[in-house]
Amino acid sequence: MSFEPEEGDQCPECRAGNMSFPPVENCSCHIAPPCHACTNRLLTCNTCGWEFEPPKPKASWRSVAPGIFASHIHRPSKDLGNGKRIFDYSYDSSSGSTMHYTGRCTPEVTPQDILDYFESGTFGHRGPTISNGRFSFTKITD
Ligand SMILES: [Zn+2]
Ligand SMILES: [Zn+2]
Repeated sequence: MSFEPEEGDQCPECRAGNMSFPPVENCSCHIAPPCHACTNRLLTCNTCGWEFEPPKPKASWRSVAPGIFASHIHRPSKDLGNGKRIFDYSYDSSSGSTMHYTGRCTPEVTPQDILDYFESGTFGHRGPTISNGRFSFTKITD
């Protein structure tokens, strides 16, 4: 439903009354306009009392506080030179004896570049493998 009544429109609920803003109570616009009481008024039917609540704007990254933005959305990105870049990578060391890296890379990146950057583990490594712009590399550390 995309219908959004405006002031003076027929009430979509009872189709008898008209939508209007109720009188503002406790208006403090003389201190800081527009005040909370004025901006929070809902279009209300003068007959059945139906209130129209405007849909909440969708949250976007623009509205996220900078601190939250940094900790939740920021992903690593490493320039390996010559236009080669790996990004969005992370590692999983939950097994205790391996460190498993996964991430994305530009098409120029070769498995050797991945190996050069992350380096082999104490007990070797598996991979790296690259497919469809994603790489996977496992260091064996124990
Ligand atoms: Zn006011
Ligand atoms: Zn109504």
